[in-house]
Amino acid sequence: MDVFREHLTDSIAKQWRDYIRIRAAIIAVVLVVPTFLFGGRNNILMYISGWSFETCNVFHRHIGFWMFWQSAVHGIVFTIDYTIRHRYMRIWTKLNLRSGAISTMIASVIVMLAAFPIRHYYYEFFLASHIILAIVFAKFVFYHAVDRGYPNYVYALVAIWAFDRVIRLVRICSHGLYLNAEVTANADIMTIKVKPRFDIKPKPGQYGYLYIADLHYKFWESHPFSVIESRDGKYHFLVGKEGGMTRWLHNRAINSEGGTTNIRVMVEGWYGHEPAIARYDTVLIIGGGIGITAAMATALDVVRKARINQHVFFYWILRGHANLEMVSEQLSELSASSHIDVTIFCRPNASAETESLDEKIITYNADESDSTNSISKKKSQSSASLEATSCPNIVETRPAFGQIIASTISDAPGSVAVFTCGPGTLVDECRRAVTENAGNGRGRVEYFEDAFSWA
Ligand SMILES: Cc1cc2nc3c(=O)[nH]c(=O)nc-3n(C[C@H](O)[C@H](O)[C@H](O)COP(=O)(O)OP(=O)(O)OC[C@H]3O[C@@H](n4cnc5c(N)ncnc54)[C@H](O)[C@@H]3O)c2cc1C
Repeated sequence: MDVFREHLTDSIAKQWRDYIRIRAAIIAVVLVVPTFLFGGRNNILMYISGWSFETCNVFHRHIGFWMFWQSAVHGIVFTIDYTIRHRYMRIWTKLNLRSGAISTMIASVIVMLAAFPIRHYYYEFFLASHIILAIVFAKFVFYHAVDRGYPNYVYALVAIWAFDRVIRLVRICSHGLYLNAEVTANADIMTIKVKPRFDIKPKPGQYGYLYIADLHYKFWESHPFSVIESRDGKYHFLVGKEGGMTRWLHNRAINSEGGTTNIRVMVEGWYGHEPAIARYDTVLIIGGGIGITAAMATALDVVRKARINQHVFFYWILRGHANLEMVSEQLSELSASSHIDVTIFCRPNASAETESLDEKIITYNADESDSTNSISKKKSQSSASLEATSCPNIVETRPAFGQIIASTISDAPGSVAVFTCGPGTLVDECRRAVTENAGNGRGRVEYFEDAFSWA
């Protein structure tokens, strides 16, 4: 490597410093635009490419990280250069240089506050600090870039940001403002049924952001939840209790008469893409815990559109019989279809049932000849919550999804789609089983996944 002699204005060392700092600066300012683009909910590339928000979020994080490093390299080499040339103080007396230094410092704080533990445990703090610091960062980048001939990049990011916010507003208004939501809770989860003013039917696999339009809770927070369907003019959500907004809502419902409360909400949606699984001959849908929402939405859609000879297997693994009641309408609809085998792996809550139930298997109205996996079944006990659903197979044992997927693929007459939504361990097990067995089928084997986290 060498410098171009004809570019030499000073020493070779000075020339290297100029190369590095100027190139790093240009790369950093160019990367600002995709960083903002991939951070938005309404990113035009998402619509064109079909990428999920989660994928875009990975791009956002990596591009943002490289933008920060390029600006840090630019700043460090620039500082060294100015110090060598006894001009260090000019960095702090000239507005554009000072703005550059401040914007790099802000970028480093943004990167530190976006560390996984903060994103995971203090999501709202992370989000608020991220947005505020990003706005201040953009302002200082503008001061720094404007007389260097790069303000267009800042205009572009302001346009991207404004577009995202306007579309969010449009999406909220499209359902109507201050909608009535009926929240019903049991010990673990709650159903939220929202009555929109304008019923915009969601596609399976789509999700919306819920805002609590109530002064008793932070109305500016928005939380993504997969929508199961729009039934009887109401959007149906199933929500697990976590530590923040969901805990607040759960407490409010559980302390109300009958475990039900009414609250005003706003819905921003719908986001996300429909998994293209309807055209496969055999469809395996696996939901783990609260991951049932996306799995159920997908199963209902496939069953409603099912072709002759298409077969769907639906598995849900959950803890606690009481949770079955929360989706009893949907389970009943699935069970009534001849295209689908529904199997529920339900391990009772320790508090509700004291026996060791690892080996105990319960079957209700089971049509055993229809079942494809080799799970043995015997009738055992009943409970009010189980009877509330007319679900065929309720099995109280730990499922081996690896085996279920392997046998379904090898027994299937044609193409197979496997869709999973649930905790990381379940999704990992299913993904591994599909990759290991993809070559054993008679047709194309495809894997689809829905994740409930991008933190
Ligand atoms: C696309 C998508 C679909 C989802 N669908 C469902 C669903 O159908 N049912 C369901 O019960 N849960 C769903 N979730 C998870 C749900 O969004 C979180 O459990 C909820 O936001 C937690 O809120 P909290 O304040 O009670 O949680 P906290 O206790 O504050 O946090 C719990 C976890 O949720 C994450 N989280 C918190 N707030 C947000 C937010 N505003 N945006 C994204 N993540 C956040 C945190 O990083 C943390 O990992 C979905 C998540 C995603 C990304």
